[in-house]
Amino acid sequence: MATVPQQSQLRFQNCIGGEWRGASSGETFTTHNPARFDEAVAEYPKGSREDARRAFEAAAQAQDGWRRVPAPRRGEFLYRAAEWLAQHADQVAAEMTREEGKTFKEAKGETQRAVNVFRYFAGEGARLAGETVPSEREQVFCFTMRKPRGVVSLITPWNFPVAIPAWKLAPALICGNAAVIKPASLAPSCAVRLVEALHESGLPPGVVNLVTGPGATVGQEMVANEQVRAVSFTGSCGVGDHIYACAARRKIPAQLEMGGKNPTIVCADADLDYAAATVVNATFFSTGQKCTATSRCIVERPVYQRFRDLLVAKTKALKVGDGMDPSVDMGPCVDESQMKTVLGYIDIGRKEGFPVLCGGGRLTEGDYARGYFVAPTIFDQVEAGSRLAQEEIFGPVLALLPADNFDEALRLANAVRFGLSASLLTRDVSKVFRYIHEIEAGLITVNLPSAGVEYQLPFGGVKDSSTGFREQGSVAIDFYSELCTVYLNY
Ligand code: NDP
Repeated sequence: MATVPQQSQLRFQNCIGGEWRGASSGETFTTHNPARFDEAVAEYPKGSREDARRAFEAAAQAQDGWRRVPAPRRGEFLYRAAEWLAQHADQVAAEMTREEGKTFKEAKGETQRAVNVFRYFAGEGARLAGETVPSEREQVFCFTMRKPRGVVSLITPWNFPVAIPAWKLAPALICGNAAVIKPASLAPSCAVRLVEALHESGLPPGVVNLVTGPGATVGQEMVANEQVRAVSFTGSCGVGDHIYACAARRKIPAQLEMGGKNPTIVCADADLDYAAATVVNATFFSTGQKCTATSRCIVERPVYQRFRDLLVAKTKALKVGDGMDPSVDMGPCVDESQMKTVLGYIDIGRKEGFPVLCGGGRLTEGDYARGYFVAPTIFDQVEAGSRLAQEEIFGPVLALLPADNFDEALRLANAVRFGLSASLLTRDVSKVFRYIHEIEAGLITVNLPSAGVEYQLPFGGVKDSSTGFREQGSVAIDFYSELCTVYLNY
């Protein structure tokens, strides 16, 4: 593994009411580089419920003024923030790689996506349209219009530390909501940079507030605070369930994006070399730490062996290491706990009796010993009902499943509780259309990886993966606005 020079430690603060400040307790916490855990990356305020309460008070104070700013003018702040982010893209991406572990190339792509998200929703400010509908009555004019919901609460994960905060903040703001954001404690730097970009855009104080700190304290206030009118969350199913129950008690809408156990189906007629490259991309890029990553690959029996050989060869060719090294394809797991979860599932797969085709453990030689590196791992002949084929692992582990035919492949693909994304590799157009109609997933790809979405299209899953409200694309504003109906007798 190439040696990348150590960087100095950064220091960040919370943003409350337009002011940058530490935690009221003065406490801090530090993040570490998962590629060499002895390197501290940044120090953050360890916020408390009290800090979160102050953030919501600041948001509530800013709400009315922000609501009155015409939506196209709100867009101008987002355009300026996008420019700031574009100018600082290398820095933001490098900080992301140091803190989250993904390769610099992936981090740069994600930062560009955040820029695009801001630009896209800036433009939506001029398109927040309602509709006019003819009335049954004479001289009555009927139309719909969108109003902001009020103060919104945004809770984000570590795996897309700039894109997810961007695709929650941008539609929230363009619709006229004030926001409080709490990023994941493992990788908060990008969310702080986004808020810095908005701060630099001249956004009125209190419209965006950021509090770093533990989910168990700050996170609780993010749902319980009486100012919160809607909560948007991406993360684990356990925390998502808890937030949903709290939001239901308060009768506020909750947008939840949670787990996946995404299938890729490889048909016997597929271009097998392309299919293998596609599955490697979908499974191992970003260390498999994407909610849309492929974790089950279902292959028609006639090509099972040939496809498996190609897949294993391509997987063995992946270079694992520090994401700042440009020759590296796959970085470390985000932290020790995530690595232990992944190694635990590798153990489970072994105990369930499935052969390991490649990988199968932690990488510990030389510089690897300083990081949370797991070798890209493939299990063979996995049974559909096994834990390996049913539970979200969130790491570089793939279960290969044989299927007798296309019908069985579709049945296996749907035989999990999740329904986020799915991919099909085939040249048969009738199979393509059957799959599009029958697959239980919110994101459906054909001859493309199951992961890799674009900002101008809706994003979200079905079944246990989501609560239905879509993120990204123009429909994102449905969650962040109230649709009101007006009857006017002139
Ligand atoms: P969590 O669900 O614990 O964290 C996601 C966010 O929720 C973080 O900001 C976290 O804060 C916050 N949070 C934690 N507890 C609470 C709470 N009680 N109330 C409100 N907010 C809370 O995910 P993890 O980071 O622990 O990852 C665990 C697993 O979740 C992964 O292995 C993966 O399976 C899944 N995951 C799925 C993602 C997706 O994109 N669908 C993204 C990330 C993880 P803090 O960081 O301070 O704990």
